[in-house]
Amino acid sequence: MSFVLRGIPASPGIVTGPVHLLRWEVPDVPHRIVPDEAIPRELARLHDAIARARDRLESVRARAERHAGAEEAAIFDVQLTILQDAEILTEIEGLVRQNLGAEKAVDLAMLEWRRRFERSPHAMLRERVGDLVDVQIRVLTALLGLPDHDPVDVPKGTCAVLVTHDLTPSLTVQLDREAISAIATDAGTNTSHIAILARSLGLPAVVGLRDATSRLTGTETIVLDGGAGTLTVDPTDAEVAAFQVRAQLEAQEVEELRLLASAEPVTLDGEPLVLRANVDLPEEAEQAANSGADGVGLMRTEFLVVGRATMPDEDEQYRAYARVVDAFGGHPVVIRTFDVGGDKLPVGGFPVEPNPFLGWRAIRMCLDEPELFKTQLRALLRAATHGDVRIMLPLVVTVEEVREARALMEESAAELRARGVPHRDDVALGVMIETPAAAVSVDTFAGEVAFFSIGTNDLVQYTLAVDRGNALLAPRFTPLHPAVLRLIARTVEVAHDNNIEVAVCGEMASQPLMAFALIGLGLRQLSVAARNVPAVKRIVRGIHASRAADAARRALRAGTAAEAERILLEALERELGRVTA
Ligand code: PEP
Ligand code: MG
Repeated sequence: MSFVLRGIPASPGIVTGPVHLLRWEVPDVPHRIVPDEAIPRELARLHDAIARARDRLESVRARAERHAGAEEAAIFDVQLTILQDAEILTEIEGLVRQNLGAEKAVDLAMLEWRRRFERSPHAMLRERVGDLVDVQIRVLTALLGLPDHDPVDVPKGTCAVLVTHDLTPSLTVQLDREAISAIATDAGTNTSHIAILARSLGLPAVVGLRDATSRLTGTETIVLDGGAGTLTVDPTDAEVAAFQVRAQLEAQEVEELRLLASAEPVTLDGEPLVLRANVDLPEEAEQAANSGADGVGLMRTEFLVVGRATMPDEDEQYRAYARVVDAFGGHPVVIRTFDVGGDKLPVGGFPVEPNPFLGWRAIRMCLDEPELFKTQLRALLRAATHGDVRIMLPLVVTVEEVREARALMEESAAELRARGVPHRDDVALGVMIETPAAAVSVDTFAGEVAFFSIGTNDLVQYTLAVDRGNALLAPRFTPLHPAVLRLIARTVEVAHDNNIEVAVCGEMASQPLMAFALIGLGLRQLSVAARNVPAVKRIVRGIHASRAADAARRALRAGTAAEAERILLEALERELGRVTA
């Protein structure tokens, strides 16, 4: 009997394939006391498990090197070193000699090492906590004889659907696309970074399934529909046939939209818009440039460092940024400085924080680590010789952060000048408006920055106090809440009064109803995932800006998000003459 699991649509596309169930978590370990005479046998079991874990790691390392390259494979070197560390081994053996079962000895010793690393004042050690956990999982898997589901170890040509509790961006970029054709997670929402990255990679995805990993056994075949947010488990022949028809229709729609690439984004009453692309990885640049986007409205540079043990140096960053700028041949390219931390990657030795979303991240971390920040700024100023680069600062709450960043930008330019390296020192500096503080006090930034870009993913999260990545809260993540609409309206008003460019680069801009609302609120620049550019263009070309403005005015006076949504939906349906989600 087939059945359907419903989650949150994260990245469109219909894929049929076998389930690859990945439970990458520390297994439960029995607390066993062994008699003295059994200690030599326990030690032998321990050494055998470590040897098997090492063999596995070496083969995974070789596979990663073949598929992802030497940089990515280097991650596994760290784990191999931990596995062979004499001090760690002596501690585990010591616990076994005190009559603990080998599994419990590994578990306790690794837990203690994790604590030491987490509390270390050295960033290098704090960065390694994830590797310690991986090693712990690998050795315990071998000791307990559990099935070994290595995340990057699926045979080529399998076209499997990866089902897991949660995925980190670093794991996602390591996935072999010839083995994994779609992903499904228990956790996550439409605006969590795994969803954003899946869309960038064109990997169909459903997130927020809550309990898919416990409802599936790993033996099933499923159809994943990323646009509808469903997994159809063990589908009947009739269901598979119906999905094939749907997939064909979707492909036709993509083809029709592609024809819009060269059309102008102008509303029916003649208001021109600027539509830009969000680019998350430099390799996407060329394809994004063909989407009909007028430049890049947001390049998320933090994805350059995912899955790596160290930050990329100035030259490597320069090449990555220049590639994107070159692909867009003179059109504006807004590059955001590293927004690491929180839900993103823990690079640079992030301390473990009880409140990472409110923590030491993004511009805060960059200003506290000026050498790291200046390396990026120098690479950006060099890339600016290739075209129209604009630098954008994330998670800003006060204009002092802008002033400090500008001072570091000037220092970076002076360093390049002293080295005689070609660069530009007149690069426009802008801020993301993605905290309520920045939106409420947006006028304080007016004399200091060249542009605003509203990051609605975080603006909604921080305004409504709703974790953007928490599937349990997904229904409460309501971008049309009056508080959010008023903050956006205020930002636009201040921008217009001060002649400052203002855009929206959060996911809100990609959805037809929201795009209609944003145009109504006066926005004329939207930046969306490259593959969504044609669909947003179609909306722009099908509506009147004046009618959107009228609907937005009424939505601003609504008491609730639901009421605002009703007002906007009615107006949009009237515009398009049909029902639109
Ligand atoms: C946002 O917060 O809306 C945004 C565009 O940035 P990110 O999604 O990378 O946090
Ligand atoms: Mg953000």
